[in-house]
Amino acid sequence: MRRFAARSLALLTLLPSFNAVAQDFDSIEITAQQVAGNIYMLQGSGGNIGVSIGDDGTFIVDDQFAPLTDKIVAAIAQLTSNPVDFVVNTHFHYDHTDGNENFGRAGAYIVAQDNSRKRMETDQVLASGRPQEAYDEVGLPKITFFDAMRFYFNGSTIDIVNTGAGHTDGDAQVYFREPNVIHTGDMFVRYGLPFIDRNNGGTLDGMIDATWNIASLIDDETRIIPGHGQISSRSDLLAYRDMLSVIRQRLRDAKAEGLSFAAFMESEPARGYAPNNDNTEGWMRMAWDEYE
Ligand SMILES: [Zn+2]
Repeated sequence: MRRFAARSLALLTLLPSFNAVAQDFDSIEITAQQVAGNIYMLQGSGGNIGVSIGDDGTFIVDDQFAPLTDKIVAAIAQLTSNPVDFVVNTHFHYDHTDGNENFGRAGAYIVAQDNSRKRMETDQVLASGRPQEAYDEVGLPKITFFDAMRFYFNGSTIDIVNTGAGHTDGDAQVYFREPNVIHTGDMFVRYGLPFIDRNNGGTLDGMIDATWNIASLIDDETRIIPGHGQISSRSDLLAYRDMLSVIRQRLRDAKAEGLSFAAFMESEPARGYAPNNDNTEGWMRMAWDEYE
């Protein structure tokens, strides 16, 4: 887990232009796992993909990187003969939406929170320093929502909700009610300290509030598809929320005591949760600035 954290954060912080660095997508395999009932999770490179299959068609959550689209479509074809009708983006980040133009061209409707569409309309720079170019019209969400929307699809009620700005200002969680599966997007991840995109409306306060909102939507039987990492439970989500809350309190206490950032880092503010290394320091710097 720790090694994965270091690697993914290094990717975000050390490679400001992901496009310029060839990732070897040829070697990526897409794996599929049944989560519950008609809901599956696909993993490859980038954010986890949720898939709902059934008589109405195919509904997916996030679409990873464009070079993987053919493999993703092939993996879905192992589950159902119905093509993808809807792609919900949990937020605008490239590792969740880069496949949009391919799926849009193939006829899928893309759905997202309205702020995410706005960010996809123009060039962005993530808080990691990584630029993300605007998508062509075909890759933009044609259907957007503000607070919540509901699908009745494949025999289940699918609530798509915005639980407030947290990871970005346009996050969506997708709750498949009857199979009791929720895809949280990057509001909840399993790689350690979560990336918070302060350039694009993300805040630690908002993320903590959002995790509480998500926890109140679901129950102990709910299976959670996190933005990255393995299938989780509500208690995992609550432990993650506790981690963020404890670290925030340490930050606030340090500010109240008038500590310098260097002195704060010497106190090992992520103790119990993450090593006191460069990645942690980068994360703390970002959070520190939020409480200035
Ligand atoms: Zn993200």
